[in-house]
Amino acid sequence: MIRHIELRDTTCRFPYCAREAVRTAKDHVIPYSRGGPTDTGQMIALCRHHHRLKTLAGYTPRLVEPGVVHWRGPYGFEHLVTPDGTRSLGRSTNVHVASMSA
Ligand SMILES: [Zn+2]
Repeated sequence: MIRHIELRDTTCRFPYCAREAVRTAKDHVIPYSRGGPTDTGQMIALCRHHHRLKTLAGYTPRLVEPGVVHWRGPYGFEHLVTPDGTRSLGRSTNVHVASMSA
């Protein structure tokens, strides 16, 4: 399962991160503690630094399809990360500032 994610994602799935997938953790998009299943369709390669941003700084991933991730940052900036790279989607008008007390 880990090798499948590494081959599919090739790099960390955070916007613009070039860390090789083989040097990342494999992360549940829906946290395991909230019922996220442990399967390749629901997991992504995420380096340690970006895993921290996701967990502590309000960056929210949503899987569009396996290996394709839509990210929304704490200030509303959105990105789409695909096997071809990152595309900026601009800033959402529905901005919320995530709690930093997680
Ligand atoms: Zn990264």
